[in-house]
Amino acid sequence: MATLRLSALRKTYPNGFTALHGADLEIADGELIVVVGPSGCGKSTLLRMLAGLESISDGELVIDDRRVNDLEPAQRDIAMVFQNYALYPHMSVADNMAYALKNRGIPKAERRRKVEETARLIGLEDLLDRRPKQLSGGQRQRVAMGRAIVREPRVFLFDEPLSNLDAKLRVQMRLEIRRLQKRLGVTAVYVTHDQVEAMTLADRLVVMNGGRIEQVGTPMHLYERPASRFVAGFIGSPAMNFLGARLDARRAGDTLTLPCGTRLAAPLPASATAGEAPVCLGIRPEHLTVVPEVDVIDGDLSVRVELVEPLGADTLVHARLEGQDDLVVARVDGIRAVAEGDRLALRPDAGRLHLFAPDTGRRLD
Ligand code: ATP
Repeated sequence: MATLRLSALRKTYPNGFTALHGADLEIADGELIVVVGPSGCGKSTLLRMLAGLESISDGELVIDDRRVNDLEPAQRDIAMVFQNYALYPHMSVADNMAYALKNRGIPKAERRRKVEETARLIGLEDLLDRRPKQLSGGQRQRVAMGRAIVREPRVFLFDEPLSNLDAKLRVQMRLEIRRLQKRLGVTAVYVTHDQVEAMTLADRLVVMNGGRIEQVGTPMHLYERPASRFVAGFIGSPAMNFLGARLDARRAGDTLTLPCGTRLAAPLPASATAGEAPVCLGIRPEHLTVVPEVDVIDGDLSVRVELVEPLGADTLVHARLEGQDDLVVARVDGIRAVAEGDRLALRPDAGRLHLFAPDTGRRLD
């Protein structure tokens, strides 16, 4: 069990490239933190620094009140589960799992007991005599987890552990990881570029962009109140729609005007000053509904359908705003009788609009 504190943690590689620009984060005991962000944003660098596999250029890493910046990986009492499993091919599952215990000088009988107990916990009992090449991808991943669990580390680190598995198995394994992590009560940091995986696993999410932490919060908080356009576009699937708009703070009621002339009754951000200002309007696809022609009111968006994607439970409608070039995606319930070329009205949920500054991308509220 452990708490972690990262203070102004920075990584500059020997070639002078700074991959992490001063990260601050506190991780509570037993918490599952998921670090998410696009390729190259510094997720793996951060994780490897926690593990001790990458040196810390500046700042401080504290585990349970102890500064560990200069501790070797083995001394940090952290177990890492990798994407490629990193199993020893010539050893049986049982020996793979017992390896770290053997290195620690734990007697054979106790090793055996711990390995069997862990194998039961994660459903590996019948596979203990096999070698890694005799296992499926999912089973190998399970062994990699078992090997980490058996060590009873204070912290678990996961580096995209599910990316080599097929979609169905990924869903199953991520539920299992979540269940196990809570059952063991172990603190964990999990890196992925898959935002759905991130949303479903995390107690709190850390969204990274270009070597910086953009926002930290519960999945729902990030979904409902993204602090920046970047976070807004990254969390949620399909991604949020962004439209250029004008904020007219002098009016009561109609406060947002789109270039096509549509005016939306949007809650005015407190930071808005009198006058007109360009803003970036964000609308999630699931917050647009198709409105029958007879019910169309001011503020509904007139669109022409360009593509329809029926997904079964719902349908994605890709459409272009009339009088303006922007494309929007709407996620509507069920199978819709909508066809390419149709003209439709889409109604944004006025209570769930997001406004961002067009220059900095920061949320306006
Ligand atoms: P991915 O999802 O693709 O694995 P990531 O978010 O994990 O990406 P990192 O592997 O942490 O990203 O890399 C962050 C940045 O640091 C990248 O621009 C990468 O090219 C750079 N980088 C990584 N390792 C080194 C290194 N040893 N020397 C110089 N630059 C590096």
